[in-house]
Amino acid sequence: MSGALVLFSGGQDSATCLAWALTRFERVETIGFDYRQRHRAELTARSEFRADLARAFPDWGVKLGDDHMLDLGVLAEVSDTALTRDMAIATAASGLPNTFVPGRNLLFLTFAGAVAYRRDLKHIVTGVCETDYSGYPDCRDDTIKALQVALNLGMERRFVLETPLMWIDKAATWEMARQLGGLRLVDLVRDRTLTCYEGDTTHEHAWGRGCGVCPACDLRAKGYVAWRRMESVQA
Ligand code: ZN
Repeated sequence: MSGALVLFSGGQDSATCLAWALTRFERVETIGFDYRQRHRAELTARSEFRADLARAFPDWGVKLGDDHMLDLGVLAEVSDTALTRDMAIATAASGLPNTFVPGRNLLFLTFAGAVAYRRDLKHIVTGVCETDYSGYPDCRDDTIKALQVALNLGMERRFVLETPLMWIDKAATWEMARQLGGLRLVDLVRDRTLTCYEGDTTHEHAWGRGCGVCPACDLRAKGYVAWRRMESVQA
C-alpha cells in the first residue's frame, strides 16, 4: 500500500498535485467527480491534461494508472449553488460565496477513500488550500485532518490525506510546478488546465484560458503575475 489516489478536477491546483504525487509515489491513480457542473469543459480538460502529461513526462507516464470517474449527480440535486445552477456568483447570506457546494469535499474525500480502499492506495492527495481560498470551510486543514481520522476509523485503514498546497498561495503553486517539472510543466498547467467558474475556453490570456472576470480567473491571473514577477527578480 504505497500508491496514491489524486483528486483531479482538471484545474491548476489538482494538476500540480498530480505532478507532485508522480514525483513521490510509484503508482498514481486519479479520481474525478461529475456532479452536473454547469460547465463541462473542466471534465474535458482533465482527460486532455492526463494524456499530455504522460506524453511530456514519460517517466511519470509509466506510473500514471487508472482514472476513476464517479457520477455524483446527487450533489446537484441537494445543493443550490452557482456551480450547479445557472445563477450569478455572489455572496450568500452565510457570508460564503454561492460557489460553495456544501458537503462537496466531504463527499469527494469519502468516495476517494472507498476507491483507495478497493485499489489498495495509501495516500489520498487533494489540492485544497487555506491560504488564498474563498473561505470554503471544507478546505480547512482541520476539516481534512478530521476526515483522515474518520476515514481511518470507519474503514480500518491507515490512509494519509496529503494536502501539498494547504499553506501556499497561487504564486507558490506555479513555483511548485516549476520545481517539479520545469517550465515545460508550467506551460502544460497554464495551457491545458481550466479553473474558470464560467468554463470559458475561448479567451486566451498569459495565465491560460478563462473568462478573466470570475473570482477563480482573478485568483489564477494574480497568482501567475506574482509568480512571473518573482521569477524575473530571481533571474
Ligand atoms: Zn472565469
